[in-house]
Amino acid sequence: MEGPGPGSQCRNHNHGPHPLGFGRLGACAHENKDLVKAREALPLIADSSNCDIVKATQYGIFERCKELVEAGYDVRQPDKENVSLLHWAAINNRLDLVKFYISKGAVVDQLGGDLNSTPLHWAIRQGHLPMVILLLQYGADPTLIDGEGFSGIHLAVLFQHMPIIAYLISKGQSVNMTDLNGQTPLMLSAHKVLGPEPTGFLLKFNPSLSVVDKVHQNTPLHWAVAAGNVNAVDKLLEAGSSLDIRNVKGETPLDMALQNKNQLIIHMLKAEAKMRANTKFRLWRWLQKCQNIITLAETGCLDFRTFCTSCLIRKPLRSLHCHVCNSCVARYDQHCLWTGRCIGFGNHHYYIFFLLFLSILCDWIIYDSFNYWSIHCTTTFREDGLWTYLNQIVACSPWVLYIFMLAAFHFSWSTFLLFNQLFQIAFLGLTSHERSSLLKQSRHTKQPFSLRRTPYNLGFTQNLADFFRCGCFGLVKPCAVDWTTQYTMVFHPAKEKVLRSV
Ligand SMILES: [Zn+2]
Ligand SMILES: [Zn+2]
Repeated sequence: MEGPGPGSQCRNHNHGPHPLGFGRLGACAHENKDLVKAREALPLIADSSNCDIVKATQYGIFERCKELVEAGYDVRQPDKENVSLLHWAAINNRLDLVKFYISKGAVVDQLGGDLNSTPLHWAIRQGHLPMVILLLQYGADPTLIDGEGFSGIHLAVLFQHMPIIAYLISKGQSVNMTDLNGQTPLMLSAHKVLGPEPTGFLLKFNPSLSVVDKVHQNTPLHWAVAAGNVNAVDKLLEAGSSLDIRNVKGETPLDMALQNKNQLIIHMLKAEAKMRANTKFRLWRWLQKCQNIITLAETGCLDFRTFCTSCLIRKPLRSLHCHVCNSCVARYDQHCLWTGRCIGFGNHHYYIFFLLFLSILCDWIIYDSFNYWSIHCTTTFREDGLWTYLNQIVACSPWVLYIFMLAAFHFSWSTFLLFNQLFQIAFLGLTSHERSSLLKQSRHTKQPFSLRRTPYNLGFTQNLADFFRCGCFGLVKPCAVDWTTQYTMVFHPAKEKVLRSV
């Protein structure tokens, strides 16, 4: 014989421990009074031969039940609590008794108990999968709604009986079945059961994420947000729930989270919205690029010497694709180690100012370091010689020496680069990349070659005016060329051939 009765059944039924949470507590609150009564009702019985049929059913004493039924007991007759024998057999997982009672005329979907439930509802609440299977085989209707408005699958969700959820869905029960309030199992799970399951489990059956309930017109995501169910929010966002649907009050899930002041959920929803916007933007960029390729191809301009295969765009003149920045850079100069960015048309003049001010700063530090030593150290280079002088300034202030050395190091490269850049800009009208490319090419040509004879060299003052985009009292006017959109030469067209090869 199995355990002593439904009380024990209720405590020992085999569907694992329930996590604490209001969902489960909510479910317990729903747990019908019949179950409570069943628990209270059963002291151990010493002599099974005298017990009544309800007790015999609860305890699964098949012979005694058979004896009473054959003696004329009507199996359809409910007890004083309006509970049928089939209910007691179902809640206690008495498979043989269920078969026996049905063979004797018991009604499978008999309503009973305080919640007006069927035996199937009772079996589902208790998580008895074998009993659910048996009752369905006998034609029990899983779509029937109990006194609380829940169908079988809703109860399985509330009580977190995953095997029963899976079985009911596999038997054809709709995963989007609504309860009396129009809530689907997914909404119920997101609202009532804290934690990732059974929300995550239900999502495997492809439920509707955008369906709304009858009363509040909330989506499952709204319900998860309303309950502060972080795990369910996470699962629903991962499954692609819409962030834009508004409920009957016109609120999106984010509006609800802001009202509830749930910072974690607010952060999750905002981060998801940002990520989706980026994805949309990337898709838009991709479509733009496709359109670009079509236009270039159809106008005969799709030349792979001037087409960037990484950015899928037509490269502007003087531009280069930087693989570190993963972008085409207009009038490319270099990828700068010191700034970690590319130097090009947009920021080249700032780079010159950076080098200029860095040189001035380092120069100033060097000058003041010498001043410090001359005031605070009792030695001079002329009187004591180099070795003594160095020893003295190390002993005088190691920190000043350290700063001096740093300044000297940065002064050396920044000054060198500054003069190099100014020379290229003013005298050659070239970028660093163009200069080095032309120098490389010149090694392979036998003809005499001058870096100054390129179409970009417009003379010292014009080069400077163009570069810094400023005139000089009307004497020089900058030539406004936008190198981000310049695809062909606008001046010195005869020299375009030279440029193409740069
Ligand atoms: Zn590119
Ligand atoms: Zn770069």
